[in-house]
Amino acid sequence: MQSIEQVYPILEQKKRIVITMHQKPDGDAMGAALGLYHYLIQLQHEVTVISPTNWAGFLDWMPGVQTVIDYDYSREQAEHIIHHAEMLFCLDFNIMYRTKHMERILTEAKCIKVLIDHHQEPQTTAFDFGESDTSKSSTCEMIYDFIMSSPHKSLLNTDIATCIFTGIMTDTGSFRFPSAGADVHRKVAVLKETGINHSEIFENIYDNSTEGRLRFIGNALLNRLEVLYEYNTAMMVISKKDILKYHIQTGDTEGLVNYLLGITGIKLGALLIDRNEERKWSFRSKGSFDVNAFARNHFEGGGHKNAAGGRSSETLEKTAQDFKEILKQYEQQLQ
Ligand code: 5GP
Ligand code: MN
Repeated sequence: MQSIEQVYPILEQKKRIVITMHQKPDGDAMGAALGLYHYLIQLQHEVTVISPTNWAGFLDWMPGVQTVIDYDYSREQAEHIIHHAEMLFCLDFNIMYRTKHMERILTEAKCIKVLIDHHQEPQTTAFDFGESDTSKSSTCEMIYDFIMSSPHKSLLNTDIATCIFTGIMTDTGSFRFPSAGADVHRKVAVLKETGINHSEIFENIYDNSTEGRLRFIGNALLNRLEVLYEYNTAMMVISKKDILKYHIQTGDTEGLVNYLLGITGIKLGALLIDRNEERKWSFRSKGSFDVNAFARNHFEGGGHKNAAGGRSSETLEKTAQDFKEILKQYEQQLQ
């Protein structure tokens, strides 16, 4: 994989470009894709953002989101565009399986492939150019760097800044994680100077729930929480019944796992949700416990040291039971 600066000369000529991100894109994935989109269209490229799946309703206000194609819904149209693309930007993921059903078409595509991502252990052989930096707070911060180090940094506008701010805000837990260093705040200051409305962005993301979602969270905290004090671990198991009862949609479970680390002394939070095709884990940790390694070793997943995801094809009960069994190996590390 060649370095990201080598992409600038390629972008001096008009190209057909596809931007994609991981399935069920979050604020960072969607923000990075749309931030880059608003930059590239000013350079007169023909740009299409294709999401592997649908996304949370609380992202639907983002500038440009109405142009995003959902591969799951518009497969033929999306495949046609990918076939004719000259360049592909892969954002906020580093291994092709995270694009779900798009994995094959992206792997087989013959165009120039560019990676911009901040997760651990990238599949670098899959990309021609790119940057993979786990020290970055978010992929949006990396898009900021990409634009501001380019020969066209004057193209930074409020649309780009709004999208990038969204991803930095969501991936840093509203600027509270260790990743939100002084540098991040300096970059955010530049974004704010373009005239973005950061209070409105925050409200659009975090004050945008259905009543059902709030009641679902209430039920989860009251009835689905299990604290395993001997392992300093808190877990929650959400069944399909809960999902249906509260009309839970894509994105409605976002943030739920964070409550688990709110209990004094808890070092590992684990949320298990029964999705249609699989049982999906969200892991969060405090301190040195590495959930990226944990998810990789036991649940076909990965992510970051303190935030990762995984999956299982076993039943919900069996998956939860397996987790408790596996925890026994980590008793020391969790003290
Ligand atoms: P979340 O729990 O919010 O879904 O994911 C936490 C972090 O882990 C995010 O950065 C996400 O991109 C990453 N992640 C989630 N699921 C997986 C997975 O199955 N594989 C890998 N490699 N990363 C994941
Ligand atoms: Mn991210």
